[in-house]
Amino acid sequence: MVNLTGQNIDLKFGPKKILRDISLEVPYEKISVIIGPNGSGKSTLLKTLARILKPNKGNILLDGKDINRSSSKEIAQKLSLMPQSPSSPEDITVRDLVFFGRHPHQGAFSRNTKKDTDAVERALALTKLESLKKRFLHQLSGGQRQRAWLAMALAQETDVILLDEPTTYLDLHYQFEILDLLKVLNLEKKLTVMMVLHDLNLASLYGDYLFVVNEGKLYAEGKPEECLSKGLLEDVFKVQVHETMTTRGKPQFIFSSNVH
Ligand code: ADP
Ligand code: MG
Repeated sequence: MVNLTGQNIDLKFGPKKILRDISLEVPYEKISVIIGPNGSGKSTLLKTLARILKPNKGNILLDGKDINRSSSKEIAQKLSLMPQSPSSPEDITVRDLVFFGRHPHQGAFSRNTKKDTDAVERALALTKLESLKKRFLHQLSGGQRQRAWLAMALAQETDVILLDEPTTYLDLHYQFEILDLLKVLNLEKKLTVMMVLHDLNLASLYGDYLFVVNEGKLYAEGKPEECLSKGLLEDVFKVQVHETMTTRGKPQFIFSSNVH
């Protein structure tokens, strides 16, 4: 069982406060989604939870242990992160990239074991990249590259996965495919998923639980049906909700601008 919580997190870039007193508990074995306007601090929050950034105040606990007092390897065996715009070494193959996901499980000079190879092959199959595994990253489309990064995070075989806008470069079909894959892994492997999503309707459909971040603060949280109201969306996202519907028990919205 892996438990991830943040307690009173403050984070500054220079003098600018980016995260303000955020406390949260990542729902265990669920899919949670962080939503919020551009620049509200979503990526910063995710990176702080993954120990990429260090908070100025507050703690992040993974299984009750402060992540800033744990080794990178210790964390990487439990938690993987797929960043928003990973900078990739372009001259490696998809398969080699996915093997990087196995590093936390390997000793300093050890070679790949069958377990590593199996995990890599599984991740390539799940992300439908088998036929592309020998391609170099620079030979891939944005969407294919996105899937390669996801495969690397999956090959890490952690109990918790954090993803920053995993559907950004994908067409609608692949957006659903990736989200369905995460849902299947959540249900079948009890994977705890926390991700940032831009699309509020997808956040509502796939999120068991939502965190709304606004101006560096945790503005609201809850199940989509409890949390996503017309008033909240209009306040936080500065749009008009034109119509609200319900699909599979989840609220869905048609938006219009404030002007028209
Ligand atoms: P979001 O993911 O919600 O769009 P971010 O977490 O990326 O927002 O950014 C939150 C704020 O922090 C923004 O104002 C952004 O400009 C600022 N910021 C992000 N990264 C850095 C950095 N490395 N240095 C300085 N400011 C940053
Ligand atoms: Mg972001």
